[in-house]
Amino acid sequence: MKAYKILIDGKWINSESGETFSSLNPATEQALGRFQSGNENDVNRAVDAAERAFETWSSTPAPKRGEILLRAATLLRQEKESLARLVSTEMGKVIKEARGDVQEAIDITEYMAGEGRRLFGHTTPSELRDKFCMTVRRPVGVCGLISPWNFPIAIPAWKLTPALICGNAIVFKPASDTPLCAIKFVEILQKAGIPPGVINLVTGSGEHAGLPIVRHKSVRCISFTGSRETGLRITKEAGIKRVGLELGGKNGIIVMEDADLNLAVDGVIWGGFGTTGQRCTAASRVIVQQSVKEKFEKALADRVSKLRLGSGLDPKTDVGPLINRNAVEKVQMYVDIGVKEGAKLLCGGSRFKGRGFFYQPTLFTNATYDMKISQEEIFGPVVCIIAVKDLDEAIDVMNSVSYGLSSSIYTSSIRSAFRAIEQIEAGLTYVNSSTIGSEAHLPFGGVKQTGNTREAGIEGINEFSETKTVYFDYSGKLQKAQIDS
Ligand code: NAP
Repeated sequence: MKAYKILIDGKWINSESGETFSSLNPATEQALGRFQSGNENDVNRAVDAAERAFETWSSTPAPKRGEILLRAATLLRQEKESLARLVSTEMGKVIKEARGDVQEAIDITEYMAGEGRRLFGHTTPSELRDKFCMTVRRPVGVCGLISPWNFPIAIPAWKLTPALICGNAIVFKPASDTPLCAIKFVEILQKAGIPPGVINLVTGSGEHAGLPIVRHKSVRCISFTGSRETGLRITKEAGIKRVGLELGGKNGIIVMEDADLNLAVDGVIWGGFGTTGQRCTAASRVIVQQSVKEKFEKALADRVSKLRLGSGLDPKTDVGPLINRNAVEKVQMYVDIGVKEGAKLLCGGSRFKGRGFFYQPTLFTNATYDMKISQEEIFGPVVCIIAVKDLDEAIDVMNSVSYGLSSSIYTSSIRSAFRAIEQIEAGLTYVNSSTIGSEAHLPFGGVKQTGNTREAGIEGINEFSETKTVYFDYSGKLQKAQIDS
């Protein structure tokens, strides 16, 4: 079986630990390769290399950095199909969604390449004569990027490309369930011309490779996407540095009685069961107006029961496997809790017997807003229906969770749509469309315990640049702000 290496200072080498781990195809449980179990020594070397490379990279003109990213986007386009097949094999995503994962990486890479010719600051008048004020963007320094497995190409791209265009150097630790996707993505960036040391890739566990990055004094910024629990740990361990957190969600779709119910069913199928429910923006709660509940849930249950489970590579598959055995156990635990709490199972509810980490698409009805299955992130193909009497109650239920990432409302009333936009506590609200499907030029992120940052679009640049304020006095005399007029 092929053994893959870590990347430090432009060279692919073995970890000092001498240990490796494997990544499995979740549909077959077959190992895809051996990967280095990176440790603190590897991280220290990676940070040293990044600090050295930062000097040259940060002074390379941003449009030149953009040219390299544009070449990377072209290479990604050329490799799109093989990368999508890899995403499908290593993570289990159905192939058309895996192509979407790679397309997101292409989109953000092109977008960030263009930012190389902008990276705008501001100019503004001074309160004093003969004085000019402006802000300029500066890179942050060495950035530690830590990614999850559920978008194994797109999320690394959402972090690496803005960090690179801003002139930062990087130590990147991908999720241990999808190291191969990360290695292939970084190889493409290398091939496009990113200089040695600007990107360093250390595979390995969160504890042994992730934490040393978080704690390292020379790492100025951590950009983390993953679970709330890990996010909390990182916050405690990071010390004084920038920490950008993109954490979990418990997203809901409101279905009003004046909605196009067929459209809403399509939205719940896509949002609830796409990527096997393993999206931070997955719609795991459907908040439906009581007057249409029966009709809606019948139509939805009919569709859910017909979803075909299988390998992501099979074009007939609707729902692929979960990422690993622990995820299957976790989903089963929540389904058992839901049954005990008194919700009614309409479809699914059990694991698939045989090879692979499959779980049946599962639909609960008669859930209440305060049940565990309505409050906690399950991260699997489980959706619960909660009935409400009107829009006020729907918004209260939507906001009853500790997370605040994505949300959606299906309605034909402009008034209801705008009330939802104003009152739902979430980073994203969709109207008459599902909770998933962000675009590279728009900011992405959440409120409450979903995190504290925005990625993509111009806000992705904010995450990876410092704003320096410049006062330029050409009066030739001492002028004192607030004192001289
Ligand atoms: P996770 O278990 O928190 O892991 C995320 C990353 O953190 C992995 O690379 C992991 O390494 C690493 N890690 C674990 N413990 C660490 C520690 N103590 N210090 C430093 N790094 C550590 O999350 P996941 O299971 O991969 O991803 C699923 C979660 O991500 C869900 O909650 C989902 O909602 C969230 N998510 C959020 C967004 C968003 O944009 N808001 C997007 C996608 C996913 P190992 O893999 O080696 O454990």
